[in-house]
Amino acid sequence: MMSGYTFRAMEVHDFTQIWNLDEIRRRLDFMVRNGMNALVFHEPGIEDKIVFPAKFLGGSGNPDSYYDAFLEVDHAILYHALRENLNLNRRDYINHVIREAREAGVDVYFENKELWFSDFVLKYRKELMQQDGTICPSDPFWYEEFLPYKYKELFLALPDLAGIICSIGTGEARLAISNTFACGCDRCKNLDPVEWYKNMILGMYKPFKEAGKKLIIRDFIYTKAEQERFQKAFIDMPEDIVLSLKNTPHDFYPTFPDNPLMGQVGSHPQITEYDVNGQFFGWGAQPSAMLSDIRRRLRYGKEHNVTGFLARTDWEGVQDWTCFDNLNMVNLYAIAACAEDENISDEAIYLKWLEGEHMLRENLTPGELKSCIGRMKEWLDETWPIVEKTNFVNGCLFSNDSCIHLTPDQFTFIGGTHHSLSEWDPEKKDALEMSAENIRKIIGDKEWAREKCEKLADQVSSGNPGLTEEAYDKVKEHFEFMRWYVRGFRLTARGYCFGRYVREKDGNDVIAEGKTAAELLKENIQEMECYREKLCTMPFIHTYPFDAQLNPERVDFYIQALKKMSGGTAR
Ligand SMILES: [Zn+2]
Repeated sequence: MMSGYTFRAMEVHDFTQIWNLDEIRRRLDFMVRNGMNALVFHEPGIEDKIVFPAKFLGGSGNPDSYYDAFLEVDHAILYHALRENLNLNRRDYINHVIREAREAGVDVYFENKELWFSDFVLKYRKELMQQDGTICPSDPFWYEEFLPYKYKELFLALPDLAGIICSIGTGEARLAISNTFACGCDRCKNLDPVEWYKNMILGMYKPFKEAGKKLIIRDFIYTKAEQERFQKAFIDMPEDIVLSLKNTPHDFYPTFPDNPLMGQVGSHPQITEYDVNGQFFGWGAQPSAMLSDIRRRLRYGKEHNVTGFLARTDWEGVQDWTCFDNLNMVNLYAIAACAEDENISDEAIYLKWLEGEHMLRENLTPGELKSCIGRMKEWLDETWPIVEKTNFVNGCLFSNDSCIHLTPDQFTFIGGTHHSLSEWDPEKKDALEMSAENIRKIIGDKEWAREKCEKLADQVSSGNPGLTEEAYDKVKEHFEFMRWYVRGFRLTARGYCFGRYVREKDGNDVIAEGKTAAELLKENIQEMECYREKLCTMPFIHTYPFDAQLNPERVDFYIQALKKMSGGTAR
């Protein structure tokens, strides 16, 4: 037995949850019961809700305490940066949370993105702003002065914060290497991005080292070339800097291969991130039990010297919705349990979940209990294979963060270019080729998923396996939603294929089901119109976030886009 996963973390990414003490207590309760020991608050700029940073408002740059830093600039705050006045209260909240967490044996981390800063920093250092209004990311100010001071002040404010998980170089930051093209200065033009990464990480590192805090850097990377640059920069960094790797490259797509950077960073400690709620596989509105994927990914991590995991339980793009609200909660139980004991059975995980969430009816006989666990396992085991053929097309991400696309072209951009699978799996380079043969394969997959899902949803609604009434109603609702979700994605995928064929090739070609592409497209538009009409009569369509994922407005927008493709002449 290898030593395994010692860092067992839960990530809260929805900021409405981070700042809600009842919600945090619910999370901590789960962590105590399931052997987890780190809580991660992921919010870009979260540190800016705590630090001023006083130095850039006229402070000395060397305050003895957080209140000293504040008093150095309290007048400047009132005149120039009034919102910073609220930082003191937010600091009190976070310090309180840290105290409660420590009592529960849990360390608290922030997860953020650099560079991030308040606008007054630009006034402090006017040279950052270029004539055309862009801000220069390569100015030494950032790593020589800004990052070292900001984190020094943060650790004065939150002395018991365990550390930071930081993405550097992502376009999701306010300023980063990936948008250096925006700055036209000579330094930026001649900049080796490897140097930039190094400078930024080392700029952060010093105050961490001094305060005894853990610095964890994420590999927030879109392409292989970027990843290689990052690896080159990272490997020579001080050894106590931890690397946090998504289980898959680029983002959390279960159809993608293992992250090739794993195990390739010398002696740096590594942790792996896993999205249990499913930004890309249905947010748990559509259930998707990932037990076998979780086992496989954790095993792969272990074989590559990974010693921690970070389970993402929600997503910043969807407010007030976490795996704690839906059936994908079973994935959180699974990752916590498998990290402790890789040989634990699926049945034991399902039982932990059903018991932990109080879903079992009282007074079940032992036989009824056994059969209930069996039925739930049977149903949930069927979900991921269906999801895989719903939210993905030949392994490419086929959804707009799990919502219906607005147009077919949006998929070509998101699934084919922006989130390209072929970048990481060259065999997939023709995954979106619109040959008649490939179209038949794609629509065949969608047909398979629909048939499976209709049967599954029928089974689920045919009888309560031993759950409380409330739990069973919830299970039924999710599977009924899934039925409609799978139907909808079957239609958008068919429309995508037929529409592209008509536009790019010849609508008169017979391509599938004995019909021409133009006929198939026309029929699909009619079918989608009926679908939309019926969708609007379903009870779940008034429930959040079901109404976001299968938003009838999106369906209608997609239909209109297909009509335009249908109206265009072939060739
Ligand atoms: Zn520049």
